[in-house]
Amino acid sequence: MTQFRIGLGYDVHRLVKGRPLFLGGVEIPYPKGLLGHSDADVLLHALCDAMLGAAGMGDIGRHFPDTDSRFKGVSSLTLLENVTQMLESEGVRLCNADLTLVAEEPKIGPYVDGMRKRIAFFCKASPDKINIKATTTEGLGITGRGEAMAAYAIAMLCKI
Ligand code: MG
Repeated sequence: MTQFRIGLGYDVHRLVKGRPLFLGGVEIPYPKGLLGHSDADVLLHALCDAMLGAAGMGDIGRHFPDTDSRFKGVSSLTLLENVTQMLESEGVRLCNADLTLVAEEPKIGPYVDGMRKRIAFFCKASPDKINIKATTTEGLGITGRGEAMAAYAIAMLCKI
């Protein structure tokens, strides 16, 4: 592979009652959670897709299909760990990543450092290479109405 490779990830999950909310590998107290086959951690899914995209290795739907019972209820940190291993076998690692959560609520500020540490651990990177930020959509659209959360991620890979 070339010295640097860049990839983009995007994901959306529906917000429902009766599910825990996991974002960036951290459980956040909130009356609703994200619906999905795994823990539906929208931030980690966007990151996995960005990393796989940068490596030219498709997307998480291809590697961890929601028809596969092995991934039912699984922590998305496990998926991230798997992606990191796949990259390692291709001779690349995550250099840095920038993640944006799109959600009207809750405020994630108090949890960001914990997310960065956890993501960094599972990516074998240092926390200062993982940036996490959030935005609302000013009450507009599916995220603004609190029906869903979305996330964007961009990842740079470098040679090991
Ligand atoms: Mg997803």
